[in-house]
Amino acid sequence: MALDVSRRTRIFNSSSVSSEDCIFCKIVSGKAPSLKVYEDGEYVAFLDIQPFSRGHTLVCPRKHGETIWDMDEAETAGLFRVAFRVSKAVVAAVGADGFRLVQNNGEAANQAVPHVHVHVIPVMMEDKGRYGGRMSFSQQEMESIAKSIREKMKDS
Ligand SMILES: [Zn+2]
Repeated sequence: MALDVSRRTRIFNSSSVSSEDCIFCKIVSGKAPSLKVYEDGEYVAFLDIQPFSRGHTLVCPRKHGETIWDMDEAETAGLFRVAFRVSKAVVAAVGADGFRLVQNNGEAANQAVPHVHVHVIPVMMEDKGRYGGRMSFSQQEMESIAKSIREKMKDS
């Protein structure tokens, strides 16, 4: 039986925007640049431009919604199904030893962009237990990482 969450229906984000002003909607539609590694009719995966590690990828639904409560259970399951596949490609592409799936809902949970997304963050053994800051890679490096992940997605 599904948990009753009807008492609260909205999760607060002070950065709430309409889909017209949403950066991820622009990425999904191609109006804003991104390095996509996977897309299908419902979901898109692309590199985080301020990654926590090499290969840090975001997976989001094409349809705008702020939190997973704006999606139904099947859409949420689909999002994680894609994240599962992307995790295998990301780990293989960067040779990671582990990975984290992070999905933040609401400003209190550190959700920075108000469009549902799952972080796929590969982790190396030497970074075990370390929660470092955002990193930056050159455009050339980012393109090379994206290319490797895309190739691994074909194998998955
Ligand atoms: Zn959006």
